[in-house]
Amino acid sequence: MPGLIPQDIIDRILDANDIAEIISGYIPLKRAGRNFKALCPFHHEKTPSFTVSPDRQIYHCFGCGAGGNVFSFLMKYERMEFPEAVEMLAKKVGISIPKTEPADKNAGIAEKLFSINELASKFYHDILFNSKEAGSVRAYLEKRGISSETAKKFRLGFAPDKWDALINYLRQKNFSLSLIDKTGLISSREDSSGYYDRFRDRIIFPIFDIKDRIVGFGARVTNDTLPKYINSPETPIYVKGKNLFGLNFTKDEIRKHDSVVVVEGYLDFIIPYQAGIHNIVASLGTALTIEQIRIIKRYTQNAIILFDPDLAGELATLRSLDLFLSLDMNVRLVSLPKGFDPDSFVRDKGADKLKELIEDAVDLFDYKLDLLKEKYDIIKAQGKAKIAEEMLATISKIKNEVLKESYLKKLSEILSVKEDALLKELSKVKDGISYIDYDSFSSLASKPLNIRVVEKMVVKLMLEHDDLIRQVKEKLDISDFQDPHIKKIVCSMLELNSQGRKIEASRLMNHFDDQAVAQTLTHLCLSEECREIDKQKAFDDCINRIKQENIKEKRNQLHGEIKIAESQGNKDRLNQLMKEYNCLIKK
Ligand SMILES: [Zn+2]
Repeated sequence: MPGLIPQDIIDRILDANDIAEIISGYIPLKRAGRNFKALCPFHHEKTPSFTVSPDRQIYHCFGCGAGGNVFSFLMKYERMEFPEAVEMLAKKVGISIPKTEPADKNAGIAEKLFSINELASKFYHDILFNSKEAGSVRAYLEKRGISSETAKKFRLGFAPDKWDALINYLRQKNFSLSLIDKTGLISSREDSSGYYDRFRDRIIFPIFDIKDRIVGFGARVTNDTLPKYINSPETPIYVKGKNLFGLNFTKDEIRKHDSVVVVEGYLDFIIPYQAGIHNIVASLGTALTIEQIRIIKRYTQNAIILFDPDLAGELATLRSLDLFLSLDMNVRLVSLPKGFDPDSFVRDKGADKLKELIEDAVDLFDYKLDLLKEKYDIIKAQGKAKIAEEMLATISKIKNEVLKESYLKKLSEILSVKEDALLKELSKVKDGISYIDYDSFSSLASKPLNIRVVEKMVVKLMLEHDDLIRQVKEKLDISDFQDPHIKKIVCSMLELNSQGRKIEASRLMNHFDDQAVAQTLTHLCLSEECREIDKQKAFDDCINRIKQENIKEKRNQLHGEIKIAESQGNKDRLNQLMKEYNCLIKK
């Protein structure tokens, strides 16, 4: 979480606000035992599975998995950023947030960089529209089908073919070279004798953030020179993969349509936009980052991907789209005819044809399956196994159990493989991001338990008894835990505990950047109490189980290494491994 507001202030604000009171200001809550229930505001449902716990000061929806503390509720419901949510609740209870020194300093620099970018953008824009030398560029834009109205809307510009045009302009405005350098608009000469303009003889596309501030620039040639595009380097205000080009112009339309069309480049965005497709953003990179998908998710759950047809045919590209599923979004893909990108397609075939293609976008599951069917022989066992492996990797990312099951069923029919076999394979698919469901988690006494369920049990017990945190510290190592979410949660608990801080789920949550980890925690807190009367015994059982499991894994691993050493005739290594093995057996 952004660390500019001191942690103890955040904790105080959290303690002073009541989550039930805040949420009841947005949706009606009904008392149900110790908790409150409501129809979930984040997904459609008929029976309430949205639970608010005044004891824990958290909420969790057992339908869609949403969960968090009062800050995360406001962030999700009001689409606020973390600091905004903190500020709003601080105001409500009359706590003032002290501005820390480094925050001020950074904010100061950021403001200056924004204003330099703004001036530079005006400079380039003015040249494009008012200078003689840009006449051919204006003609070029017209030829590419960009109207001057569109060029004005997106504030396109032109960087003249000079080494010092922008530098001189900005120096006149009294900015220091070192400050201008921080915007990435200029580069230092190799012999460090000075600076020169980074962008020359190129069309300029300003990149805006969501608040309409210019964070960086893209620059395109008007001829066949390579590289076709150059972009701003990363700066204090521009981090690649954390922005979406055009979102500041289109966010309201995206919300209204409840869907977003994702394209790759500047012109792939601008041309369809000009032709009336307004729920659109550009990723400015082939693979979308998880941060970009999270930003999209604030506005809609439905994404339609319109990538370069050559790339969309690549498995690697499709795999990157699994990220959408892990964030519980729906993804469909549009296949453009070979040789077209969204820009050339609209110019050639018209916007209506593109709209039709978008209407007919194919679900990621079907798209990937078709591609695999072309690649592998679906009749042969080998081919089936390959297709199953790829498809299960995607299915494992789907959070919704009903959806997951229906895809499994479909896959089983298409491959004519029993669903049980696919389920078995699915359980082998291990992945850091996938969401692990543990609704089945009830009593320890029942059945053989999955090791990950045991790990969750340990965290649940740790949350209920401070003393058990100490015991975990003594008896286990972080590396003993396998589930990546649980690892993060345990890590934070141990750290807070060693700082002597009180451990409460609602506070713990502020330490995770990843919403999915917070949701694992709220699910855990509000899922059924464990029924074991003797908590210490239950805890000891869990610890033993985890230890045994890790020994077993270590043993298997050693076993494998011994075999390799044997086959290589490496005696020293073999001796060493045998020693380790015997040691382990004694344990
Ligand atoms: Zn929900």
